[in-house]
Formats: sequence, C-alpha cells, structure tokens
Amino acid sequence: MPELPEVETIKRDLQKIILGAKIKKVCVYNPMVIREPSPPVFKKSLEGLVIKNILRRGKLLILELSNGSALTIHLKMTGQLVLRQKLSNSGKAKNSRVVFHLSGGKILDFNDQRLFGELRLVDDWGKIKFIQSLGPEPFDLTYGDFKDMLFKKKTKIKPLLMEQSFIAGIGNLYASEILFRAKVDPARSAQSLSEGEKKAVYKEIKKVLSKAIKHGGSSIDDYVRLSGKKGDYVKFHRVYGRQDQPCFVCNSKIKKITQGGRGTYFCPKCQM
Ligand SMILES: [Zn+2]
Repeated sequence: MPELPEVETIKRDLQKIILGAKIKKVCVYNPMVIREPSPPVFKKSLEGLVIKNILRRGKLLILELSNGSALTIHLKMTGQLVLRQKLSNSGKAKNSRVVFHLSGGKILDFNDQRLFGELRLVDDWGKIKFIQSLGPEPFDLTYGDFKDMLFKKKTKIKPLLMEQSFIAGIGNLYASEILFRAKVDPARSAQSLSEGEKKAVYKEIKKVLSKAIKHGGSSIDDYVRLSGKKGDYVKFHRVYGRQDQPCFVCNSKIKKITQGGRGTYFCPKCQM
C-alpha cells in the first residue's frame, strides 16, 4: 500500500500539473469506489469546480475545491492516480474507476484493480472520522513529542509505528526500514527503548521518509507516479522484501516474521 512518501510524491506531482484546473466532466465506471455522497451527486457536484489546493494528511490526498468542498482520495491497496494523454474509444483504461476530464485537455484517471480505494466529496475534510483519528505528521514531530508518545507504551515498536492514530503515514515498508537503520529489534516493547534508541528511531523516521520522497517513493506492488513512472527508493531498501538475503552491514541472513498479520523484515544481528 502506498505510504507517506508515495502519497506525498503524488501530491507534489498533482500540484505541478492540475492545480488551478477546472473539473469539466466526471465519468464514473465503477461506483464502488465512491464512498460519499451518492455517485450521481458526486459527479454532478464536482463538475464545474476548480482545484484550488492539494494537500496530504497521513496517506490521504485532499483536493480543496472552489466552493469550499474537498475531494479526498485514499489509494489503499491498488489505487493509482495516473495522468493520461489519451484514452481508448471506450473512454477508459483497463482498471479506470473514475475519470476526471480537466481543463487544458488533462485526463486524471483513478485506476484501481481491487476496488479498495476510497473517493469522498465532503463539505469539510477536517470532519472526516479517519482524519480526526490520525496521529501527528512525522515531519511536525519534535523529539520531545515523540518521547512523550512512547511513554508507558507496551505495544511493540514496529506495529506501533504503523498505527495511524499514533503517527500518520508510516506503513509496513517504512516501519521495517526505519527500525533497521535505528538498529532496534521490531519486537521490542516501545517503552523498553533506551534514550539513545528512541532518538535513533526519531531521527530515522525523518531521514528515511525524506529520502524516500526525494526518490519518488517505492514502486512495489501497484504504486506508480502520476506520469505512470515508478518511484526508485526500492534501490535503497535494506531489509524490506529481502528475507534470506545477506544483510548489507553484517552479512547475516535477513529474517521475516509476522507481527499483527504483517510481514516484518529485520536483521537478527544488527537489530539485537
Ligand atoms: Zn545485519
């Protein structure tokens, strides 16, 4: 699933290309991805509005519109936002679910193979339950905040970093990469981390996420940029997806364990 660096990359791509564009026509090819309002109202309300601002909160994209409402996009598992030059005669690409025809001949295709993605048109995005449940943005955190957040937390550090109500935007991939670089065992309880380890995790959260944004995110599974091109942070992965391969630091075999139903990758020697 796209995490903070991937969604931030798409946000920045969108800002360069569709900011200020007018939504001329909305074609709904599968209404399942439209969570609110009803698909006909969604279509009718959006047509004629101008995209005024493009934001991100956690893994959610927010397009603020000229009448004060907002279109929110959660890509979930297989959602993609792709700028198309042309569409076939059917008016859609293979997994197009909703296609936005914008001024200047721009075509924004919300493509989603497995239909877990969520589009919403809302009057006030700040009132969306998901948004209200989100923890702080990693880049807004001070070390003092982070230390307070870990106080008396018995949860294991890896699933805790992935909890969106704890901190927004980090998922399975970046949690593994952050803990490897901080040299912290993913199975440790959060409160058991030493001061030095807390500092290392805090530092690596910012370092890993910024570098991943710089490289356009990690194209594993379905994630692509607005242009359809891949993000190339994958070449910097140290543990994710590398089970049984040698650790780049100590040559031990990278291990994979399951935590909360998700695969965690780590080096048993570097992260003792
Ligand atoms: Zn190692």
